[in-house]
Amino acid sequence: MTFWTGTRRALAVSSRLQDKVAVITGAASGIGKEIALTFAREGARVVIADLDRDRAEAAACDIDSSGRRAIGVAMDVTSEEQVEAGMSRAIEAFGGIDVLISNAGIQIVAPLVEFEFAQWRKLMNIHLDGAFLTTRAALRQMYRQKSGSVIYMGSVHSKEASPLKAPYVTAKHGLIGLAKVVAREGAAHGVRANVICPGFVRTPLVETQIPEQARELGLSEEEVVRTVTLKQTVDGEFTTVADVAETATFLAAFPSNALTGQSIVVSHGWSMQ
Ligand code: NAD
Repeated sequence: MTFWTGTRRALAVSSRLQDKVAVITGAASGIGKEIALTFAREGARVVIADLDRDRAEAAACDIDSSGRRAIGVAMDVTSEEQVEAGMSRAIEAFGGIDVLISNAGIQIVAPLVEFEFAQWRKLMNIHLDGAFLTTRAALRQMYRQKSGSVIYMGSVHSKEASPLKAPYVTAKHGLIGLAKVVAREGAAHGVRANVICPGFVRTPLVETQIPEQARELGLSEEEVVRTVTLKQTVDGEFTTVADVAETATFLAAFPSNALTGQSIVVSHGWSMQ
C-alpha cells in the first residue's frame, strides 16, 4: 500500500501480508484474535475459526463487517468433518489458503498421578488431533498453490516442563515434531512450517489458570504470578498478544524456505536456546 505526501513522495506503509489468506483457529479470543486483527492490518484476508459461530462471526465483524476481508466459521478442530467444511468455506470465500495458524488450545492443570484420562485425552485431542486435521486440510490446498506457511502455537512448554501440566507440556513438545515433518514434506511444494513458543500471556486461558494453580500450590494469586508464572523471565513481565502477533506476521511474511522447521521462543527470556 502506498500513500502520497504533499510532495508526492511515496511513503511505504506496512502491508506485509497483502491479500494473503490466513485461517486462524481459536481466533475468537486471546492470541488468535490479536493475530487476526494484526494480519488484517497487514493486508491479509482472515478466516476466524472457532468453536462457536456467533463468537467467530463477532470477531470477524470487528475486522470487517462487510465480510469481504474477514469471515467467521464454526470449527471444532477435533472434528474432521468441521475442519474440512471450514477449510472449504475459506477457499470458497477467498480463493485459497496461504497461511494456517494452528492456535486453538486449552489448559487443564492437575498433578500427574491424579490426572483423569478423559481430561488428558481432551487436551491431546484439541492440541494434537486439531493440529493434524487442520494441517492436512490446509496442505492439500497449499500444495495445489505450491506455496504456504503453517504456524503452530506452541509454548515455552514446547521446550520446558512445569508441574501440573503433563498433557499440555507433552502436546506442545509434540507440535515441534509435527512442524519438522511438515517442513520436510512441504518444502517440495513451497510450504514452510514453524512454531511460536510464547511465555505467559494474559488471556482467558491464563486468567483461569492462575487461581487454579494458587489452589493446587497453596499460594496467593500474586505469589503464583511472581514465584511461578514469571519467575524465569529476565524482567518479570508478561508476554503480550501483540508480541505474539508480530512474531506470527514475521513468520507468515518470511520470503523463503530458509526459515522452516524452527521454533521461536517469545517469552521475556524464559527458556533461552
Ligand atoms: P484463549 O482461551 O483466549 O483462546 C483459545 C481459543 O481457542 C478460544 O477462543 C476457544 O474457543 C478456542 N478453542 C478451544 N477449543 C477449541 C476447539 N476444539 N476448536 C476450535 N477452537 C477451540 O487462549 P489463548 O491464550 O489465546 O491461547 C491460544 C493458544 O496459545 C493456545 O494453543 C495456547 O496453548 C497457546 N499459548 C498461550 C499462552 C498464554 O499464556 N496465554 C502461552 C503459550 C501458548
